[in-house]
Amino acid sequence: MEKEETVRGCEHMTFTAKVDVTRLFDTLPMQFRADIKIQCAECKEDFEFGGIPIGYDPHIPTTSADKFTLRIPIKPNTYTREVRPSARERNRHGLAS
Ligand SMILES: [Zn+2]
Repeated sequence: MEKEETVRGCEHMTFTAKVDVTRLFDTLPMQFRADIKIQCAECKEDFEFGGIPIGYDPHIPTTSADKFTLRIPIKPNTYTREVRPSARERNRHGLAS
């Protein structure tokens, strides 16, 4: 079986990934987004993200129009816990848990 090559003659054996994290200030609660790009480290060809809607939605992963940038909503691990009252606080205020 022959090795698969692209029109550039590169076998795409090694890769680079770039991640940019953006903090969206005009939303409540505060939202964050990771933008991910992947390239072949040798020929610099961009990789497309398939099977993901094009555009931007703060609740689901999407891609840029050229499909080269994957946009993923992210949040800090402690984010939900910090904004939600603890069981002790809910009891103190007479709230059901
Ligand atoms: Zn390549």
